[in-house]
Amino acid sequence: MASQTIDILCSQCGTFIVRYKKKGSGQLIRLYLDMIKEPDFISRLKSFSSKSDLQVLACINCGNRVGLPSIHGGDRLAYRMIKGSFRRKRGN
Ligand SMILES: [Zn+2]
Repeated sequence: MASQTIDILCSQCGTFIVRYKKKGSGQLIRLYLDMIKEPDFISRLKSFSSKSDLQVLACINCGNRVGLPSIHGGDRLAYRMIKGSFRRKRGN
């Protein structure tokens, strides 16, 4: 399946939140940590193994919550995205 790089922006203030490598072109329901490219502080979280180590994904500028910690397939960390809290834009 083709993948694309997209930027996730805060829907409230437009601040960049993460750059993500997404498979396919469907809706963004879940962000897998191992597919997040930026920023570095999230990349570092990949080595964490427990959902309880994850914090809510929020806008660094206005605090708008965009994703909730989630675990998928038993051990794959992800953020479950909150509908309407973010905008997406094609990255490069
Ligand atoms: Zn914001």
